[in-house]
Amino acid sequence: MEWNRSETIAVAKDKCAHCQGEGLRHTTRKGPSNPCNCVLRGIFRACYSRFRYCVSKEKYMSKVTLENCSGKDGRRVWARKDEDYIADFCIVSKRALDEEEYRIFRFHFLLGADWRLCCRRLSMDRGSFFHAVYRIQQKLGRVFRELQPFSLFPLDAYFGGTIQKALPGSPSNLLLMPSPRERRGALRPPLRRESPERKAA
Ligand SMILES: [Zn+2]
Repeated sequence: MEWNRSETIAVAKDKCAHCQGEGLRHTTRKGPSNPCNCVLRGIFRACYSRFRYCVSKEKYMSKVTLENCSGKDGRRVWARKDEDYIADFCIVSKRALDEEEYRIFRFHFLLGADWRLCCRRLSMDRGSFFHAVYRIQQKLGRVFRELQPFSLFPLDAYFGGTIQKALPGSPSNLLLMPSPRERRGALRPPLRRESPERKAA
């Protein structure tokens, strides 16, 4: 997938020192844009808080839904979205992380241990622990968004979207804003109406 500004700007940290709230980082002048780490961490945090919500909510609230399956056969299938999401979140994370990263992820994010407990259990210092946590968040944020054929993020597409067997082409109604590099010159909006006398002169 190609990362663009429409995708990243909503998740980017508005005071980020690296992307200035744009969410993209240009490695080379003509090369493809890369998402800023603040975006990747934002995606992870959104997915993780939804995971916590799904895990902690009362089980009678979780329901079976009938999902439309667009594609050649156009069938409808029964699904348990919350349980599917919990399983996807755990399996995808386990697959993406290496052994050491997964241990930290499991202790801190799945079992809920705070940094003190994690550092003691994993024999790490505070700095290395938080560096590892940032690295894990960035790695998983990217995986959650780029996962094919169905990504975990955006969450509304995961929970509310139809199951598509054929991937759609690029959306034609997407309006791309020009990047700050392309915007040249100052903006001069008409702030004052010209008076009739001045116009006549
Ligand atoms: Zn940023």
